[in-house]
Formats: sequence, C-alpha cells, structure tokens
Amino acid sequence: MRPAILNPLFAPLASLPGVGPKTGKQFDRLLERGAEGARAIDILCHIPHATIDRRERPKLRDAPRDQIVVIEARVVEHRAPTGRYAKGPYRVLVEDDTGDMQLVFFHSNVEWIQKSLPVGETRWISGRLELYEGHLQMTHPDKVLDAQGLARLPPVEAVYSLTEGLYQRTVARAVQEALKRLPALPEWRDPRWLGQRSLPGFIEALTRLHTPGSPADVAPDSPARLRLASDELLANQLALMMVRARMRDDNGRATQGDGRIAAKILAALPFSLTGAQTVATAEILADMASDKRMLRLLQGDVGSGKTLVALLAMTAAVENGRQAALMAPTEILARQHYERIGPMAGAAGMRVALITGRDASTQRRRTLAELAAGEIDILIGTHALFQESVQFADLALAVVDEQHRFGVHQRLALGEKGAAVDILVMTATPIPRTLVLTFFGDMDVSTLREKPAGRQSIETRAMPLERIGDVIEGLKRATAAGAQAYWVCPLVEENEELELSAAQDRFEDLARIFGDRVGLVHGQMKGRDKDAAMEAFQRGQTQVLVATTVIEVGVDVPNAVIMIVEHAERFGLAQLHQLRGRVGRGSGKSSCVLLYRAPLGEIAGGRLGIMRETEDGFRIAEEDLKLRGEGEVLGARQSGAPGFRFADLSVHADLLPAAREEAAKALQNDPGLTGERGEALRLLLYIFEREEAARLLRAG
Ligand code: ADP
Ligand code: MG
Repeated sequence: MRPAILNPLFAPLASLPGVGPKTGKQFDRLLERGAEGARAIDILCHIPHATIDRRERPKLRDAPRDQIVVIEARVVEHRAPTGRYAKGPYRVLVEDDTGDMQLVFFHSNVEWIQKSLPVGETRWISGRLELYEGHLQMTHPDKVLDAQGLARLPPVEAVYSLTEGLYQRTVARAVQEALKRLPALPEWRDPRWLGQRSLPGFIEALTRLHTPGSPADVAPDSPARLRLASDELLANQLALMMVRARMRDDNGRATQGDGRIAAKILAALPFSLTGAQTVATAEILADMASDKRMLRLLQGDVGSGKTLVALLAMTAAVENGRQAALMAPTEILARQHYERIGPMAGAAGMRVALITGRDASTQRRRTLAELAAGEIDILIGTHALFQESVQFADLALAVVDEQHRFGVHQRLALGEKGAAVDILVMTATPIPRTLVLTFFGDMDVSTLREKPAGRQSIETRAMPLERIGDVIEGLKRATAAGAQAYWVCPLVEENEELELSAAQDRFEDLARIFGDRVGLVHGQMKGRDKDAAMEAFQRGQTQVLVATTVIEVGVDVPNAVIMIVEHAERFGLAQLHQLRGRVGRGSGKSSCVLLYRAPLGEIAGGRLGIMRETEDGFRIAEEDLKLRGEGEVLGARQSGAPGFRFADLSVHADLLPAAREEAAKALQNDPGLTGERGEALRLLLYIFEREEAARLLRAG
C-alpha cells in the first residue's frame, strides 16, 4: 500500500479546482494517461519547456520576433471589420516611440476588446510578436494589462507544452493547485551530497521548476532539474538493485538438459551454429545448470541469430521436463516467433503454443488448461503472458525479446510465474554499458557479434527526394522480377496523425502504380488489420509494403530485399540500422535506399554517411553515441520503458554513478529499508512509481 502521506500526489487531477470533466480528458491526453486518468503527480512532472520573462520591456523596434514579449504601448485606434471584410478580424493599432503594431483578434468579444484597450491609454500587452507582411503584429495577445494588472503579474512564468483544447493558464493553474497540496516530505538523500552539489530539497525543486525565478531555473542543468533527475535515477537504481537482489537470493534451481532434443533441432538445420551462437548458448546453459538464478542479456544485431540461441535454451528446460516462455513486445512478433519456432520445436517433439490478447476464449481456455497440466512445453506470447490466469506447471526459463520495451515490473511478473525462473533478455540494440546498468541493472551479458555466414552485404544508397521517380522505376523492375520491398514513411515527431497521413498518401500514390500489390501497415491500425496486412506481405500477396516505423522491430520476410526509407534524415541512426536489418535476411542481393530532403544538416549527413559505410551494429551504436549523446541511443521513442520523467541521460548521465552508489549503500546499511532514511527512500520509490520494488520488501 502506498503511504497515505503521498495521497495528495496521486489524487486524480480532475479533483483539483479548475479542472473539469472536459479539461480532465484533455489533461489525460497531454500527460499520456488515457485510460488510467491523470493525477496530480503527472502534472507536476510536466516540465515547462520554456519561460516568459517579463522583466525585459523591449521597445517595439528591438523586441525579439516570434517570442513572447511584453510591450508597453499607447492605444491609437480600433479597426472593426466592415463591409467586404466584415468576417475579418478585429484589429487594434498601438504604438510606442519606436514603432507600431497591430493587435489581431478573430471572432472575439468586441466589448471586452474595447474596454481593455481604450484609445489614448497606455497598456502592457503580452503575446507572441510576429512580423506579418512587413508589419509587426500580435494575434490574440495572452494578456492586456493596465498598471495595476502588470504589478500583479509574475515577472517570470513557466510555459508548458499543450494539447488541443488546453490553455497555458489552465495548465498553470492545475500545476499551482497541485503544488499547494504537496505534503511535507522527509529528506531521502545523503545531506552531504546535496550540500556538495548545492541542490534544493525535493519539494523546493518541484516548486522552483514550476515557479521559476529566471529562465535558467527550467533549464536541464538547473539545480531543480538536477535534484529531480537524480532522485529519479536513485529510485530507478534502488528498484533495479532490489529486484536483482530478490532474484538472486531466491535460490535458483538447476536446470540441465541432456541434449537429446537439441541434437534433433541442430540436425534439422540447413546450417551450423556460428561461433558466437555456440559460445552464447554454452554461457546460457551453464547459467541454467547452476543453482543460481540466471539474469542474462543476449545482445546481438538484427539477423545475428538470437532466436535460435533462445530456442536452444528453452529446449534445455524442456529436456529437463520443465517449461519455457518467450515474450515478444507486439502481436506481430509473437506470432512470427510462433510460426518460426513452432515447426522446428514441433519436429523435435516439443509442444508449442501461442497466447495473445486476441485469442478466442475457448481456444484460450484450452491453452491455459494444457499449460497448467504441463502439456505445453513452450509458451510464446505478448504481455498477455503476465496475466494472472496464465499458470505454468513448472516454468524454468523466461525469454524476453526486445526487452527495452518492457518495464521492470513486467520482467518481474514473468519471473514470479514459477519458482526461481531463469531470465534471458534479448535485445537487438547494442547497448553501451552505462545504459545496460540504467535499464537492466547488473546483468550478465552474452553478445553475438558475428553474423551467420553467407549473408550478403546490403547495398546502401542515399538519394535526394527529387530522385524519387528513379527509385519508383527501379522498384517497378525489381517487383516485376518477383522481389518484395518495404517503403517506410517519414517519422513525424510527436504527431501521429501527420505521420499516418504521410503513409496513407504514399500508399495511394504507389497503389496507382502497383495496384493491389501494395499493402499498408501503421501503428494506429487495429491489431487484426495489422496482422492481415503483414500476413499478405509475408505470403507474397503484396509486394510493396508501405509502413510507418511499426515494422522497425523484428519482422522477418526473407523475400523482402529492398528497403526504402523516405525522409531518412528524420530517423536516428539506430532506427535506420534496425530498418535496414529488415532486408538482407535471405540469400538474395538486398538494397537499401535512404531518400532524404536536401540540404542535409551536418548530423543527418553524418548518419547517412555511416549507414553507407558499415553494417556493423556495434560500430553504428558507437557512432550514434558520438553523434547524439547517450540519452538518445535509447531515446524515449525507441525505449519507452524506463519512463524517465525528469532524467535525460544525454544531460544527466553523470548523475548516475552517484545514484548507484547511494542506492547500494542504502541497501547495504538497511536492506529492508526500515530505518528512518529507509522509510524516506520508500516514499521516493512510490513517488517515482517503482513500488513493485517496495512491495518486494514487504513480501520478502
Ligand atoms: P535475430 O533474432 O538476432 O534478429 P534471427 O534469429 O531472426 O536473428 O535470425 C535471422 C535469420 O538467420 C533467420 O532466418 C535464421 O534462421 C538465420 N540463422 C540463424 N542462425 C544461423 C546460422 N548459424 N547460419 C545461418 N543462418 C542462421
Ligand atoms: Mg529477432
């Protein structure tokens, strides 16, 4: 149970004054709390992205354009729309001794405008100053004040990102109301450390972030942000260490296969294991055979053959008379694992089943019954595997694919599905060591650096968008010869609707040329439609698949030999590499065309250059780090999982060592977190919603 002192933080946002049912929904959207509903803590974690600094009072001639400014000006005249322009805006001309500007109001309350802006009077007008057809103007000033009003205004104000329908003042009000309700909290940090870095207390930091005294207070390196980011990292490290300690403490069970099923699988393969696969498999089997609990990361580039290694590990569990589970982040991937592993495992005598969120209920009930009875050896699925109804007879090994999409608690939940379950995490994104620590805690790592033999290199070209006609001609020739291609559409930052319409437009264009041999798949399609589109492509029914980045992870169609990425300059290096990894899976010659909008910026140009130069995922990850800093290698878009709200590793990575040290020390001194400081740290865990770890303490 969450300590009651924190209740005001987790109260529904809609319970705050000024937030109604309708604005409540808009807040849910803004704070990405759709189904669960936003809470006070969520708005407090909504970091202002800028400030309005009203301390400066620039003259019109010198005022910065396209920024929010406060201008002191005399009202010259009102220009109500008339005659032919009756539907036009209401304008008010104002001036200072350096120039004039128009205030522009669409569909506004004329009475209010006339009252607030009397001709001949001086007013302080705050808003975004723009240059429009050579004239200065301000459309819908956010404030029009007289001297008294000005005196009441805070000199510096936080500015928040918004969602449609929400206003700055609504968000600001909700934030201030939430701040008012903050309880007094004990200090959980080491006071010496706080003193050394001159960092404020937690509540003080939150307050300063939202009530800045200067623009510097909201910058990523402000003392307020550093405090909050470092608290978040501390919570993260504590949680990871506690989970790990729990997992390692649980006496593991030795799981050892006799190799008889593995031998059948290997004999049926048309190839032999790579050296790297052999080593990784041996490492994993040794972990499983020991009576310590396994917590191992298997990292290997796309196409390096991780799935087979995982299958051999699962086979060992089955040989030992126990069960294994494989969890994938999406339905498509779960299904694909099932289709590829199923036949191999089946031929060797193992029973494999699939469970997703969309199974028919009778089928599902049967699968669950067989699972509980031990009649299923390997269960493959999505996060549906976590559900309570899923009970194994004797789960020995849980394999989690593309782990960084899942959170700690999910990993834990799977581990709890059996006694001392061994855990193997697979990731295709080579991850630098510091990030492994942040995201996974201390894990053992096996790496597949070598690719299976016989892989042809992928010819990679970068071309300006103007040459799209040539690309389409090439595509016509290739598809006529039977090849299949992906066409990935531009990523539109933070705007799924635009992203979608770009993909739809491209799909319609290509459909005019290729007719019904073109398919479309995007993130907002219903699961069934998405599967149908993927299946049509997998079966070769469609030859060109237009997609948004939903195909980024794991999809395997060996006949797909062409990857076209439109607006490649908008993608990160890791993403481009993942996308390119979708081709070059069969024995045919593959190619990748990176279409970019010229002129290329320096970083984008650098990325495309590296893509042309190398296919080595590890080198690409290193170059990516150099180009963009650590944070973005597993940026929000690619990871999603750790859900940092204040910490941005590209800025705050250097806070990590201290957080690790502090977490380790705290747990060493007080493993149950029962002392005074321990109690405070528990609050921290709850505030950053790492309570699964806090719950462990109680259980353990
Ligand atoms: P990953 O999951 O690491 O992206 P996969 O396991 O999907 O890679 O393997 C990619 C492809 O390579 C699959 O078609 C698989 O059958 C094949 N493959 C795996 N191991 C080998 C090997 N040792 N030699 C040749 N091909 C292999
Ligand atoms: Mg894979």
